[in-house]
Amino acid sequence: MPILWQACLASPPYSIYTYSAPADLPDLQEGQRVLVPLGKSIRVAFLIETQPEPPQNIELKSIIWPLEKKPLLNVTHFHLYRNIASRQLQPLGKVLENVVPKRFRSAKLSFKIADKDFPTRLKGVDLARMSFNSRMQLVHIYNEDRMNVCLPTAIEKEEYVSLTADPPWPVRPNAARQLQILEYIYENGPREKGFLKIVMGDWTTGVINKLQSDLLLRVGPPPAEELDPSEKCTVSSDDWDFVPTEQQESAIVEIESALDSDKMEVKLLHGITGSGKTLVYMTAARKCMEQGRSAVILVPEIALAYSLWNSICPLFPDSEKYLYHGYQTPVRKEAIFRAVSSSNNPVLIIGTRSALFLPIQNPGLFIVDEEHDESYKQEERLPYQAKEVAYFLAQKTNSLLILGSATPDLKTFYAAQQGAFSMISMENRVGKSMLPEVRIVDTSKIKNPEQPFAFETEDRLKEVIARGEQAVIMLNRRGFSPLIYCTDCEEPIKCPHCNVSMTYHKGRERLICHYCGNAHSFPLPCPMCGGSHLLPLGGGTERLEEQVAKALPSETKILRMDRDSTRRQERLEEILKSFARGDAQVLVGTQMLSKGHNFPGVTLVVVSEGDLGLNLPDYRSAERTFQLLVQVSGRAGRGDKPGEVIIQTRNPENPIWSSVTSADYKTFFEHEIEKRRKFKYPPFTKLALIRISYPLSWDGDELCTPFFKQIRESAMKIGLMALGPVPAPLSQLRGRKRFNCLIKSGDWVKTRDLYAEMMRSNPDAKNIRITLDLDPVNML
Ligand SMILES: [Zn+2]
Ligand SMILES: [Zn+2]
Repeated sequence: MPILWQACLASPPYSIYTYSAPADLPDLQEGQRVLVPLGKSIRVAFLIETQPEPPQNIELKSIIWPLEKKPLLNVTHFHLYRNIASRQLQPLGKVLENVVPKRFRSAKLSFKIADKDFPTRLKGVDLARMSFNSRMQLVHIYNEDRMNVCLPTAIEKEEYVSLTADPPWPVRPNAARQLQILEYIYENGPREKGFLKIVMGDWTTGVINKLQSDLLLRVGPPPAEELDPSEKCTVSSDDWDFVPTEQQESAIVEIESALDSDKMEVKLLHGITGSGKTLVYMTAARKCMEQGRSAVILVPEIALAYSLWNSICPLFPDSEKYLYHGYQTPVRKEAIFRAVSSSNNPVLIIGTRSALFLPIQNPGLFIVDEEHDESYKQEERLPYQAKEVAYFLAQKTNSLLILGSATPDLKTFYAAQQGAFSMISMENRVGKSMLPEVRIVDTSKIKNPEQPFAFETEDRLKEVIARGEQAVIMLNRRGFSPLIYCTDCEEPIKCPHCNVSMTYHKGRERLICHYCGNAHSFPLPCPMCGGSHLLPLGGGTERLEEQVAKALPSETKILRMDRDSTRRQERLEEILKSFARGDAQVLVGTQMLSKGHNFPGVTLVVVSEGDLGLNLPDYRSAERTFQLLVQVSGRAGRGDKPGEVIIQTRNPENPIWSSVTSADYKTFFEHEIEKRRKFKYPPFTKLALIRISYPLSWDGDELCTPFFKQIRESAMKIGLMALGPVPAPLSQLRGRKRFNCLIKSGDWVKTRDLYAEMMRSNPDAKNIRITLDLDPVNML
């Protein structure tokens, strides 16, 4: 009897089928990609495992041919994907679709054959039709490496569309389609021409041509460097002249002995801002690579990935190393994926969370820097927490996992305190620098919206500028104004899909919904009453930049760093470099500023609205605010001169300020963990959020009322504490009505049971969408 394999499709319907492996096929193994027939089509499938008995009453089809000798996905990573699928109750094929680049899932390929008895190119269908004897002959050719997979030329010749300039673009405001394309690429980065046609429509071809002739878009093959998997390093080579401080030295000793042990270990590196964690990471990575094993360093932001890349590369001149993040072009991602998968050397990976899905061989070290950061949780499409993924991989490969932060996630710190893993503390800054002095400034008396600063704050800013030093000002809200108010009908302009007010972006001349991305040109008449008396209320970074310019001497140079000003990677690097060189005295920005950047010239940090985010309906709002403010404070005084931080608040009585001003993590932790214990929040319970939504245009009440009642009853029967379903804090989003059901439980099993039951008894699966978010970071 032929061997039977379960194989999983990485494209719809994502099913797992059993196929037989005829004797005239090369050897097969787990995780390998193969061509299989499905109905009349041919698909790429991934082999899961062999199966002893054939399924009943089904005529088995045969695997056509393997696409590789050594699986693209190694066994560890393949198990990871299977684990994620079962944790999230998602089909494995859907997980694969999210982590494996598109070209490795496409069956539109051919085989190039170097043998006189065969045509030079064969397609999947040709192989499927071939006689037993010919296929036996082909196995020899395959085994002698004379048969290679070729990707379809259509994909290889794909043209890329990229921007040549930032907005506002010189196009007529009513050229809606031109703007739509420009905005899309601005938001999503360079894309293939064919892809734009699929997502937007056939009209794109003509409009792209027009924009190309107006020199607003560049169209062409992917730049050659995109096909080269390794990122260039923009810093010249440097000697390894790092002399560790006593504190760094002892951290390194502990980490090196963990690397030597060849056992799976987790370490929390709790080091205050400026204590020199990065150099500890570099030393650890170097040691790991010397042992012949691969290392992965994750950071929470693309900007940090580039700056780490630039500082680390010169120190690893001869190593194989890759930078990887979600905004690279598909071509570049594929090139890196392939290079990593086929490499036999230890590799160094620097990247954001998705870099964990690169199928590296023989890892020895995973570092998650700023481990408290929420960007390690992916919520959309495929939900996962990068720290859990790293933990899984470390465990399967006997690697060391280092979680680093000045303000660890409460759950991480609690686990370390309970002895789940060990902790390394670094309590002093490197060199002469000291933690800055933090002051709370009361702004509750300020009623003028045009005045962003208390007099005291403004005076300090002027002094710092006069001394030739630098200041950073954070306002965690981008755009010009979060609210446009119509004084004719007394209503704010709201997003019709989300029912939240739209943010005015002055530079882009647009109103944008920050929740769904819906946008239209501005100025426009009020969509409700047609009135033209519109008033921007409240401020974002864009307005703050204008206000700072007015408040400070006219020759002061100001830069802005937020998601709008840094859409193009080159622009972000320009801003960071230019500020580091001292070209500007002030940097205004969102929380992007708080993340790990090192600006030695900064002596003053101002937090313009310290209360932002503190009163959200979320059990983590205090933790999040503490982390953000301590991190941004940590940008001050990293050089030789002492630093100072001013936090403006309208509520100076809040008890959180005392732990923020002293940057005292332990006091904050003790206080917050007691609250969590009392109200049964993580880490004292396993918290899950089941989100339920249906389209606004659909009348769901009639079906949902009994369905929700049934959910509550099932939860009770299973023995779960379920709050809801109740309307979500954002009760309407992206054109859907939303409900949340919060579940507290001792284990995930019961939560999954309830979710599975809900999926089964969904009264209208076409309209009612139900998703499961384990350990949510976003409760809105
Ligand atoms: Zn109006
Ligand atoms: Zn919206």
